Order: sequence, then structure tokens, then C-alpha cells
Amino acid sequence: MRYYSPNSIREFIELSSNLSGQSSTLLAGGTDLMPRYERGQPLPDHLIDLKKLSDLYHININDESIQIGALTSIQTIQENQVIQDEFTALQMAAHDFAGAQIRHRGTMGGNIVNASPAGDLLPALYAFDATLTLIGPDGERQLSIQDFILGPGKTDLKSSEILVSITFKRQGFQSTFQKVGLRQSMAISVVNLAFVFSEKGGVFQYLKIACGAVAPTIVTLDKLTSTILDKTSKPEDWPLLIEADISPIDDIRATAKYRRTVLKNLIKDFLEK
Ligand SMILES: Cc1cc2nc3c(=O)[nH]c(=O)nc-3n(C[C@H](O)[C@H](O)[C@H](O)COP(=O)(O)OP(=O)(O)OC[C@H]3O[C@@H](n4cnc5c(N)ncnc54)[C@H](O)[C@@H]3O)c2cc1C
Repeated sequence: MRYYSPNSIREFIELSSNLSGQSSTLLAGGTDLMPRYERGQPLPDHLIDLKKLSDLYHININDESIQIGALTSIQTIQENQVIQDEFTALQMAAHDFAGAQIRHRGTMGGNIVNASPAGDLLPALYAFDATLTLIGPDGERQLSIQDFILGPGKTDLKSSEILVSITFKRQGFQSTFQKVGLRQSMAISVVNLAFVFSEKGGVFQYLKIACGAVAPTIVTLDKLTSTILDKTSKPEDWPLLIEADISPIDDIRATAKYRRTVLKNLIKDFLEK
């Protein structure tokens, strides 16, 4: 295996274009990749370490939006005041993420491109309609998180392309995040979910609920939320409306039945409050 550490996005693109067609992998914090190699996954021919790409660490905030560089650590997201105030669900997800060492090492971009159905930052990214910016030899493109993540571990990342940043509109919504794992910390989510909303006098003006670990990708419960917003559903209809959007499976952490029950209870609890 050969190791590379480009100093700029331009250098990265030149390098990855030259390596196109050969097996190469990008390395950010390595907290997903390294355990895989230790478990015996074959090493790539070329490993491209992204850590010297200083353009990928920023958090840029203007009146309309916030843009977060893909190499921003989970810890930095947890500590940022604007994220805490305006994108609370994202900050809470970062807070509940792994332990301190992994939070300092692991990156937001790595959590996205890893595309785990249980990735903890992902429900907030879906619920806040995150837009991703990618750069490759053909230039820059933008797409929604929904269009980028295609299935467990599968994304629309093209060969020689890199995820550069994640952008959210500042819309003044309230939000919250919940994670259920087999223990309080250092646990992969059995169910995780983000609620993004605005309300007036106890009535929702805007509502988006995104859940993880209950389908091959994160799902937004659009059937449920649209009928709550237009007041055509009653609490007794909610379990069936939730069922319509999820397809959990049994795995070593929990049964599908348990995931369904927990998810419905958490949503009922939130909506009733
Ligand atoms: C002990 C432990 C606890 C964990 N706990 C949690 C947890 O609580 N919640 C959770 O969601 N995850 C958890 N994880 C998983 C992991 O830490 C996260 O998914 C983390 O965000 C991955 O980021 P990274 O920078 O380490 O990614 P890496 O391992 O470096 O990369 C992951 C994937 O993304 C690709 N990639 C990375 N950056 C880019 C980029 N900018 N452009 C294109 N491709 C890129 C890599 O090629 C690779 O395929 C845990 C892992 C460990 C080992």
C-alpha cells in the first residue's frame, strides 16, 4: 500500500485523477476505516490521507446559512455555539457520540460517507435538509443528503471526488435529538431520531422527523408529519403512519419489534409534550 498526504484540494484532485481506476481510499479520522482494516478487510493499493487539507476544517456562518467543512471533528460540532443554539439536534447528536477520543478524531464527513443506517449525525442532517458540496476532476457539485446516501455503506461519491462541506439554512427552527443504545455511552444506536420544528400556541407550523437504524437509510416520516401539519391525523393514527415509512430489521443489538416499539413511544412522547 502507498500512502499520500496532499496539501491542497488541487493536489488531491491531481493525485486522485492519476490513481483513477486503481483501488484507493480516503482517510479522514480513521475511526471507521482503521477498525475495518484491523478486522482483516484488505488494504487498498493507495491510501490518501486528507488531514492536511486545511480548507476542510472551517465553520463559516453568514446571515442565511452555516457551512461546515467535512473534516470538522465531532467534538468541534459539539462545542460550536451557533450549532448549539440553532441546530440543537446536531449538537446533541455530537454530544451523545462515542467517547472523547473518537469525538476528537472522527469527522462529520466520515460519518456521512460511511453511510451507516445508525450514523448519529445523519438524522439531524436529514431533518435540517443538509446540502453537501463535493469536488472532483469535473468540478464542484451540490446535492441533498437524501440524494447522496443510497444505502448502507453506499453513496453517490464518484471516483476521485471528495466531500468538502455541509451547508444548512438558518431558519430559526427548534430541534432535539434522541438516541437509544444498549448503554448510556460508547454504544451504536438501536434507534436515533431528530425532530426539527416550529410551533405557535402549541400548534406545529413546521415539523420534520428523521430516524436512523429503522431502515436501510435514514428515513423522514413525511406521512406522519404532513398529516399532523394539516391536522388530518389523530394520535391513534400515528403508529400506522410511522409504520408506513420504516422497515427495521433484527440484528445483534435489537429486534425489529423492539425498534418499532421504541420509535413509536419516543415520537408519541415528543408529540404529546
Ligand atoms: C469506538 C467507536 C465508537 C463509535 N461511536 C460512534 C457513535 O456513537 N456514533 C456514530 O455515528 N459513529 C460512531 N463510530 C463510528 C465513527 O467514529 C464515525 O462514523 C466517524 O464520524 C467517522 O469519521 P472518520 O473521520 O473517522 O472517518 P474515516 O474512518 O476516516 O472514514 C470513513 C469513510 O468516509 C470516507 N471519507 C471520510 N472523509 C471523507 C471526505 N471528506 N470525502 C470523501 N470521503 C470521505 C472514507 O474514505 C471512509 O470510507 C464509532 C467508532 C468507534 C471506533
